[in-house]
Amino acid sequence: MNIFHKRYTHIIVGAGSAGCLLANRLTSRPQNKVLLIEAGAWDDGFWLKLPVGYYKTMNNPKVSRHFACEPGDGSGGRSINWPRGCVIGGSSSINGLIFIRGQHQNFDDWSALGNHGWSYNEVLPYFRRLESFNGGDSQFHGTHGELQVSKLRNHHPDCTAWLSAAHQYGLPLNEDFNADTTEGVGEYHLSIGSRWRSSSSRAFLAPAKSRKNLDIMTKTLVNRVLFENKKAIGVEIAQDGRKQIIHAKTEVILSAGAIQSPQVLQLSGIGPGALLKKHGIDIVVDSPGVGQNLQDHYQMRTIVQMRSQNSLNKQIRNPLSLLKMGLDWAFRGRGALTVGAGQVGGAMRTRLAPTDHPDLQLFVMPLSVDKPGEPLHRYPGFTSAIWQCHPKSRGSIEIVTSDPTVDPKIQPNYLTDALDQDTMVEGIKILREIYKQSNFCDLWDAEVVPGEQVKTDSEILDAIRKGGGTVYHPVGTCKMGVDVAAVVGPDLRVHGVNGLRVVDASIMPLITSANTNAPTLMIAEKAADMILESNL
Ligand SMILES: Cc1cc2nc3c(=O)[nH]c(=O)nc-3n(C[C@H](O)[C@H](O)[C@H](O)COP(=O)(O)OP(=O)(O)OC[C@H]3O[C@@H](n4cnc5c(N)ncnc54)[C@H](O)[C@@H]3O)c2cc1C
Repeated sequence: MNIFHKRYTHIIVGAGSAGCLLANRLTSRPQNKVLLIEAGAWDDGFWLKLPVGYYKTMNNPKVSRHFACEPGDGSGGRSINWPRGCVIGGSSSINGLIFIRGQHQNFDDWSALGNHGWSYNEVLPYFRRLESFNGGDSQFHGTHGELQVSKLRNHHPDCTAWLSAAHQYGLPLNEDFNADTTEGVGEYHLSIGSRWRSSSSRAFLAPAKSRKNLDIMTKTLVNRVLFENKKAIGVEIAQDGRKQIIHAKTEVILSAGAIQSPQVLQLSGIGPGALLKKHGIDIVVDSPGVGQNLQDHYQMRTIVQMRSQNSLNKQIRNPLSLLKMGLDWAFRGRGALTVGAGQVGGAMRTRLAPTDHPDLQLFVMPLSVDKPGEPLHRYPGFTSAIWQCHPKSRGSIEIVTSDPTVDPKIQPNYLTDALDQDTMVEGIKILREIYKQSNFCDLWDAEVVPGEQVKTDSEILDAIRKGGGTVYHPVGTCKMGVDVAAVVGPDLRVHGVNGLRVVDASIMPLITSANTNAPTLMIAEKAADMILESNL
């Protein structure tokens, strides 16, 4: 095994949403010498940059690694597939662009668990610092950050009609989900600039990558973190089948995401003792929570067939409309090529909500597909979907061998909790009520999914189990906290060792109510401050 002789102060494992931002911030101080290591390749290529390109990239194995989850009753015995970005920018290079922070309460809840410094008021400055919002500066928004955040650029008549139907149903209108509250219905913000996706790579790494104190390795897998007397001293990597050791003087930072950060920790000897022993791994810290506390949003879609031909299913097949879409994007940075994975939607409280905060998130698209990333249906489809904001079900991620190239076993345990099942059923009934409002009911002919034959609660639950799926938000597997199952403390240092932190979506103790990219970036922004302060 070779020993790489360059000396680094910090090694960051994974150039995803969190890793790219961290690389930028840590190299802003010239005395730091940072190495960023990424398993995937550089994010060249048109589809990674075109906003709507995620339809092409999320299932492309050159940039997206697919993990097959264990089948479970909650998903009707199906194995659900989890794509993760495996490319510079990580999942921010292939995600659905929706930019939403989550409810204020989410962060107050983290803080109430003993994570001091993480309440909404304390994290708001980091949300503001990282973004450049095209709606202007305010107490909630920043305009000087690197990440371009934009208001919706495609106003579709079917979505406008749905919004007014949802309002008729009784939901308030909300101008900005990233301000006072997520409650109500309105338009989603997107992580796009004037024409292009604003991935973490484009926003944070591009301006930093030529700095002399930053080295970047691509197509390089970190096998494990190495320790001396419980201090992380570097990593073992594999590049083109060759193993090497690279040392870090100050810290190793895992930003490998919610699947692979716990995997790397377990491979390094930090994890549930019995699991490590079973795979012949020397125990550095018996940490029972590594890989546990897995949370994800399970989504169910409804699809109706529309009467008009406005649906993007039709527009995309019409050469004239397609040309208009291209011109709209090229000359005005607007239109259908800029849409995210949900155009409008919002959040609401169902009668089952355990707190006075929304328990249901809604997403609406003027198109329909069998599965995200698959071809649009030929009929004029319209989709509205729900997920439960704070599922109670918990899953786990565990290595199945000491070989770092083998996928870990992922058991999401979707819908194992009765409240999760009931909330999802309630959500489908609410979507059906919205379709029936007078501002929408004349626009459609038939419900295709789950279908009009699905009537009773148990039939709806069965349809949800068989037809629902992930919205790609795994979090929580290296949870931050002060209890015995916590993997990192509020400073994101791994309990039981020195010189090692986890900074990515895996540290969320509780999943945020909506999409997870914005809160992951905030985590990295706050972590960068803590790392820079501690290394003064
Ligand atoms: C298809 C899809 C759609 C999504 N849509 C949205 C959306 O619309 N809005 C939203 O807010 N969120 C969305 N998300 C979720 C969001 O993008 C993620 O929560 C967020 O990007 C997670 O950031 P991260 O830094 O934790 O991990 P990632 O961004 O996944 O980064 C982890 C990086 O580490 C690398 N890595 C892993 N292991 C190793 C190793 N051992 N050695 C070296 N490198 C390694 C990976 O290749 C990857 O680049 C979506 C995700 C996906 C996959």
